[in-house]
Amino acid sequence: MNKNSIKVEKLSKNFVNNKVVVKVLNNLNLNLETGKIIALVGPSGSGKSTLLHLLALLDKPTEGKITILGEPTQNITENKRNQLIRNHISIIFQNNNLLLDFTAVENVAMPLIIRNKNYNSSIKEAESYLKKVNLGHRLNHFPSDLSGGEQQRVAIARSLISDTKIILADEPTGNLDNKNSSEVLSYFLKLKQKNKIVLIATHNREIAKKADYTLSIRDGIIKTSNGK
Ligand code: ADP
Ligand code: MG
Repeated sequence: MNKNSIKVEKLSKNFVNNKVVVKVLNNLNLNLETGKIIALVGPSGSGKSTLLHLLALLDKPTEGKITILGEPTQNITENKRNQLIRNHISIIFQNNNLLLDFTAVENVAMPLIIRNKNYNSSIKEAESYLKKVNLGHRLNHFPSDLSGGEQQRVAIARSLISDTKIILADEPTGNLDNKNSSEVLSYFLKLKQKNKIVLIATHNREIAKKADYTLSIRDGIIKTSNGK
């Protein structure tokens, strides 16, 4: 039992669409270790988001096992699952998933507030994370008043503040210009020293190049390469 990895065994995921079975992931085996930045690449529709959602325990595999930090997840209770997610997993969704009725700083503070941290100190900390992603001037804006790239940076700040061991990022630089994507990448690279598991689904070559290795997904199968 390894408390410092995500272990995936014989993982398959099918979706049923209009009675047609779509096989998205086919018998994957993976071992993702701490202290690594891993790029997940593959054509659109190849199953990158599907895999991230499974690893974030937001969806269930059709077959196979996912063990998170030594904890088997296939038969866990809802309570235990929520606890694992809250304590250990951050996901940056492809579409941001910001809470529309809350400001940027409140969105970023949310992971601390739901862990019962003091409201004012959570807001203070959220401010400092927003400054790190160059959004110190947008603290009190609502998501609808931010550009796509700004919303994405709020989502990134929100995923970093909770300081979880596992960070799953779904095309986090998709809406960012070169300057902001390089800066965001540098935060991800810093996380490496904090001994986290960072898995980034991306089309960005710079990320794929700087990652420790790349997982390429195609036709349901994953191949590993160090891509350098
Ligand atoms: P990627 O993130 O690599 O672009 P996805 O994981 O989003 O790919 O999707 C992989 C495939 O699974 C696509 O063909 C998509 O249409 C299908 N798919 C994803 N989610 C669902 C779902 N909830 N129901 C049916 N099909 C789905
Ligand atoms: Mg996707």
